[in-house]
Amino acid sequence: MPQRLRYYSTNRHLDQAPGITPFKDTVSFREALLMGQAPDEGLFVPEQIPVLPVEAFRAIKGASYTQVALLVAETFLAEEIPAETLRQIIDDAYNYPVPLENVFARKYILRLDQGPTASFKDFAARMMARLMSAFRDPGKRLNVLVATSGDTGSAVGDAFRGVEGIDVTILYPRDEVSGRQKRQLDTIGQNVQAVSVDGKFDDCQNLVKQAFSDPAFAGLNLTSANSINFGRILPQIIYYVYAWAQLARETESVVFSVPSGNFGDALGCEYARRMGLPVEKLVMPTNENDEFPRFLETGTYEKISPSRACLSNAMNVGHPSNLARFFDLYGGTVDRTGFVHRTPDLEEMKTRIYSASISDRETKKTIKKVYDQYKVLLEPHGAVGWRGLEVYLELFGDFPLCVSLETAHPAKFPDEIRELLEITPDLPQSMKDIDERSGHPAFLSTDYGEFRTFLKGRLRDAD
Ligand SMILES: *Cc1c(COP(=O)(O)O)cnc(C)c1O
Repeated sequence: MPQRLRYYSTNRHLDQAPGITPFKDTVSFREALLMGQAPDEGLFVPEQIPVLPVEAFRAIKGASYTQVALLVAETFLAEEIPAETLRQIIDDAYNYPVPLENVFARKYILRLDQGPTASFKDFAARMMARLMSAFRDPGKRLNVLVATSGDTGSAVGDAFRGVEGIDVTILYPRDEVSGRQKRQLDTIGQNVQAVSVDGKFDDCQNLVKQAFSDPAFAGLNLTSANSINFGRILPQIIYYVYAWAQLARETESVVFSVPSGNFGDALGCEYARRMGLPVEKLVMPTNENDEFPRFLETGTYEKISPSRACLSNAMNVGHPSNLARFFDLYGGTVDRTGFVHRTPDLEEMKTRIYSASISDRETKKTIKKVYDQYKVLLEPHGAVGWRGLEVYLELFGDFPLCVSLETAHPAKFPDEIRELLEITPDLPQSMKDIDERSGHPAFLSTDYGEFRTFLKGRLRDAD
């Protein structure tokens, strides 16, 4: 019987840091999932990363996505959830294709853009939503509150639609999301309610924070489906193992390139390697928010504030939240504000990870070049990933098997694609009727009293 995995906080060593009371305990996966963040504002990480024998990887050569998902998920969760429940969750979550598109030789694009909201965030959100439903207290409803400025909200909202025992309230800033994003959020329906706030993203976040600390809601199981939840990292290990299982010969190594913002996606690759997957190098290209490539080069970490507005807008992050987990894995500590308490082993990090900053100009050039040369269509995030891979191969020499991730569907960026390529990308199946859908958002001001009354009328505590 394997030992039950425990999770600790990345801030557990910070005894001397002002304003932080380190959380020294460990928690189960269930607790980490339902708590989201550790009480000391650190991130939960597994105490040990379970290692699979080479035979386990060999055995999944050519396996389906759901088979690979089950292997990875069971490795972490076998002690906490029945195998049959896990199998149902996975079958239900992953009901769309995961294409590997060949570019040239043995260089591939892994397309993670076929889910219901056409970004890779569907992979994590869909599994996390179902895990939360399975792990909630029986009979008690969970109430998820999210503030969003765009894509995360629709992925999370869609993932929770129809999920038993959970109600979701999504707040978005009325004038800061695009018309199409607004429609995506307003029309999710069922147990998911959109709230259009007459304010900014920060106002939405403040309303959510106030609700979390409001004693009136203490008995109502409020939770956030935040991107720092370990429940969103675990599902992101799976597609690296799947790509390898589809493409590798024998126990061949692979180079992955992962366009990176908050580093949760790339963290999935880091964990896959630590589980024993043969990964030659993890390439983590960023846009012009280059705090991480600079750190690898100079050993000095300086967050970028405010973050720079680049074409690959989901990666406009000046201090990646999951850097705390990367630092921890390499023996360092960085806190939520970007202050480095202990520097990680930089040499070790550099043997495993390469990072480069890709400018908007290079991003556009790459979209055009890859389309003209190979007839492969990329959007800005995927182009940052591909260009990062090219830079890596130019610097370190060719490597036979490489996979670069496409994290969103090109149809989400029609203007950029039209300008560069003079074509209009087809909407994915899941978004075809988006312009005709109608929804019923609630309209609220930034006043907490008003939001409180609204929530009181909406939230239920039992099934
Ligand atoms: C969120 C997002 C990213 C960045 O992923 P991280 O896990 O935050 O590094 C990249 N591309 C797209 C399309 C995204 O939505």
